[in-house]
Amino acid sequence: LKLTILGNNSAIPAYGRHPTAQILQIHQTSILIDCGEGTWMQMQRFGVRSKNLKYIFISHLHGDHYFGLPGLLTSLSLQGREKPLTLFAPPGLRAILEQIFSVADTQLSYALHIQEWNPSGEILFENDEFLLRNFPTQHRIICSGLVVEKKEGLRHLQIEACRQSEVPQSEYLKLKKGADFITKKGERISNVELTTSATPAKVYAYSADTIFNQASVPHIKNADLLYYESTFCEADKDKASKRFHSTAKQAAQIAQLANVKKLMLGHFSSRYQELEIFQQEAQSVFRNSEVSIEGVSYEID
Ligand SMILES: [Zn+2]
Repeated sequence: LKLTILGNNSAIPAYGRHPTAQILQIHQTSILIDCGEGTWMQMQRFGVRSKNLKYIFISHLHGDHYFGLPGLLTSLSLQGREKPLTLFAPPGLRAILEQIFSVADTQLSYALHIQEWNPSGEILFENDEFLLRNFPTQHRIICSGLVVEKKEGLRHLQIEACRQSEVPQSEYLKLKKGADFITKKGERISNVELTTSATPAKVYAYSADTIFNQASVPHIKNADLLYYESTFCEADKDKASKRFHSTAKQAAQIAQLANVKKLMLGHFSSRYQELEIFQQEAQSVFRNSEVSIEGVSYEID
């Protein structure tokens, strides 16, 4: 599970920072989370290939979270993409995109499945490898955060032990799924003698835009990484609540309440050039906090 930050600023691009966008990679699948202005350019800049992009999640309809989307969808088409793409969209986005494509007479080269999410939260997608679910946040307009749960994988074979017990390769998958092995003589060899534990499940939580509100805590409980908006620092706390945003300290309070492993701060207001204060304020409440950096890929472990 790997997270690449494409944009960590809020409304106005400033000081080299761009509006919100990030790519989460799970094995061979990439999910684009929000798509602020310039996302396509940021992907090119940081060498993020669109080949594995299968899902896009948009948290809400403030421009800094989706103004890059029509451009990105069109660019993929101009490149001749054929693989289908699923867009998990806030209510209303389908109509906006249909209007844009209709007036421009755009026919996409690939199938775009638009699935508008339920504002109260639901499971958006699930397969053997991962699960996606949205949860409501409290913002000026309808807004959802996203949780990505990478499922526990298969157990790992101890190849030498398998050879010694003469396990045929055709049995390997069963062993990886936890079965014991029965030899030709009918002896049972316990699974734990032939395999080691699977890589444990991982959870990534993305807060989207929100005022400080503990209601989100149960949804993001025990996440391995929480990306939380901290548009303002503590001196501008009043502005934060008036605009339905959070401060770095509030983000840290949520991280602590939710017992997450690590907190990453983002969605900074363009009024701040330096971000050190954000880290300091968050760390005073929750030690394992850091400021996100554009272009950096973070392994979630
Ligand atoms: Zn917003």
